[in-house]
Amino acid sequence: MQIIESGLQFEGLWARSETSLIVLHHSASADVTAAEIHKWHRAKGWSGIGYHFVIRKDGSIERGRPQEMIGAHAGAGVNGHSIGICLCGNFMQQLPSGAQLVSLVELVVWLRRYYRAAGGSELEIKLHREVGATQCPGTKFPARQFDGLLQLAMAEEGGEQMEDWKAKIIQQAKDAGLIRDDHHPDEPAPKWFVLTVALNAIKLAKS
Ligand SMILES: [Zn+2]
Repeated sequence: MQIIESGLQFEGLWARSETSLIVLHHSASADVTAAEIHKWHRAKGWSGIGYHFVIRKDGSIERGRPQEMIGAHAGAGVNGHSIGICLCGNFMQQLPSGAQLVSLVELVVWLRRYYRAAGGSELEIKLHREVGATQCPGTKFPARQFDGLLQLAMAEEGGEQMEDWKAKIIQQAKDAGLIRDDHHPDEPAPKWFVLTVALNAIKLAKS
């Protein structure tokens, strides 16, 4: 996984003392750079971009606010212990791209591993609308499919205690028509497999 550094300048930032949550957002716009969102948020009088990561339509991940600093994305009661990830696009009108979903899964798995290794607890993941009065990240954001993809990816790195869970997830994916070929739960899920599931999930959501 590659994070593209944006080299943005901020007015004044404070470090987070706790990280327990990831909040997902959409940009409610066209495909824009983290630098562009930085300008929008500076224009509101903020220190700079409020999100820590921006995922472009092509799946590339751009850094926004430094990861350990308090963000501005989900309200004062949430920002102090959370990381904000923004996917470019308006998911009131369209679905995220398959590449965006795959990158989101990669980033979330990476962040969870990072904070687990640092001695923290497993990060929770919530949509912005679950922690605030908003429709963000849009009514078309495929929350259930994203959760399925994330569970597949987590199961892959989870080891033996996850075997039953893996088998269950794969059966659910087959039942939902997300995957066609038989996939043995002991096999790691390579990127092409996750991508196929993502693309099928999007086709299913469109139909
Ligand atoms: Zn939001």
